[in-house]
Amino acid sequence: MDIRDQIRELQDGLVSEITDVCRIDSSYDESTADESAMKPFGQGCRDALDWMLEKGRKDGFEVHDVDGYAGDIIIGKGEEGLSILGHLDVIPAPKDGWDSDPFAPEVRDGKLYGRGVSDDKGPLLAAYEAAKLYMRNNPDAEKHIRIIFGCNEERGSSCVAHYFTKMAPCVQAFTPDAEFPVIYGEKAHAGAVLTSYFASDKLISLEGGTVSNAVPASCTAVLKGMDFSYIYAAQAFSAKHPDIPHTIKTEGNNTVVTVFGRAAHASLPHLGLNAAVGMAYYLSEFMPVPQIMFIAEKLDKYYGEDLGIAFEGELGKLTMNLGLISYKDNKLEVTLDFRVPHEIDCEKLFGMVIKPMAGAHGYETEYRFGKALIADKEGKLVKALDAAYREVEPMGDGPQAIGGGTYAKEANNCVGFGPAFPGEVTHIHEPNEVMDLASLEKATLIYYKAIEKLME
Ligand SMILES: [Zn+2]
Repeated sequence: MDIRDQIRELQDGLVSEITDVCRIDSSYDESTADESAMKPFGQGCRDALDWMLEKGRKDGFEVHDVDGYAGDIIIGKGEEGLSILGHLDVIPAPKDGWDSDPFAPEVRDGKLYGRGVSDDKGPLLAAYEAAKLYMRNNPDAEKHIRIIFGCNEERGSSCVAHYFTKMAPCVQAFTPDAEFPVIYGEKAHAGAVLTSYFASDKLISLEGGTVSNAVPASCTAVLKGMDFSYIYAAQAFSAKHPDIPHTIKTEGNNTVVTVFGRAAHASLPHLGLNAAVGMAYYLSEFMPVPQIMFIAEKLDKYYGEDLGIAFEGELGKLTMNLGLISYKDNKLEVTLDFRVPHEIDCEKLFGMVIKPMAGAHGYETEYRFGKALIADKEGKLVKALDAAYREVEPMGDGPQAIGGGTYAKEANNCVGFGPAFPGEVTHIHEPNEVMDLASLEKATLIYYKAIEKLME
């Protein structure tokens, strides 16, 4: 039978498996987390891990439970040919905003809705079924495929980090927890928190942004009294920045100003409009303190141009996002998110450039950073995945670099590969998370072809 037909035949079973495992709320649960009982991330993660291990056992494979952090299923015999890494944990899904129960997955109009269907239980099972089918079609394969699944990807990937302290590193691997085409490079993710204490006779409080990894869509300041300088400043601000809307009104004895921007992911800050930076422009009109001027004059560009850190490497540009700002009880706190190309030494970037510059404007700086990933674009792994993708999507693009991060950073010789197709909306980490069933079938076929090439 043609491989496309074989994949089509799998589909109904695959959808019911995904539906089954997505009934488990495997978000982190502190109240039931118990390291000594092999459930370091709580009961839900434990249940999802048990479900997957049981699936492997029932299918007749050797399985390993690595202290409840992660597990694996060994498909086939001999030494390792390939690993595939996915995750079984999900981010919490409060029911608000969902059109159906997030933990009672259902199909509507050819799409499966539920928490985890796209991120990442669905893709993990698609790759698992593709690996099983490959072994069925190639019973004499001399190497095995290892399916690895962690339970803490959404909270920092300590699961697979722990897994690899006990189990062998991957020979070659991919993680179906990102997008197509194949991701050969990921910038380093870094964060900095700038803190300053100062009293103001004008500013009472300031609040902007919801998370550090998104461009703030609004920022609100409460100002003391009703001073004409606030209105003059608003006029000057509007004249200089006609593209940044704001409102100004009185509330009780105070004045409340809100500046509006446009949200975007921190790794693509140029798609947004930063309301917190807009607020700094406004405030700088009548309270030119060094802390505010630093934001308005140095933190205002997406690529760090005014900090003198603009850089474009092989993986693209360094990006900077001011994600959160708050001022309360004389304490100003500014949270920055950076995506840094692999050519740059983050320790030097923060220690020798950003920290001293922020310090000169009255800020203390705390920072932390991860590592970048770059795989050989001409190597077997990237070339095989690229070819598998383009056999199914002939008009598709070649290998890409992203600002985000995947499991690939935690494993040896590993890259991100699917399942989202370019432009596809999957609502991961949002209400109504969805997996298009036609895309699922296509992704499963691509995974099969990838396995075939990498097992050669
Ligand atoms: Zn994920």
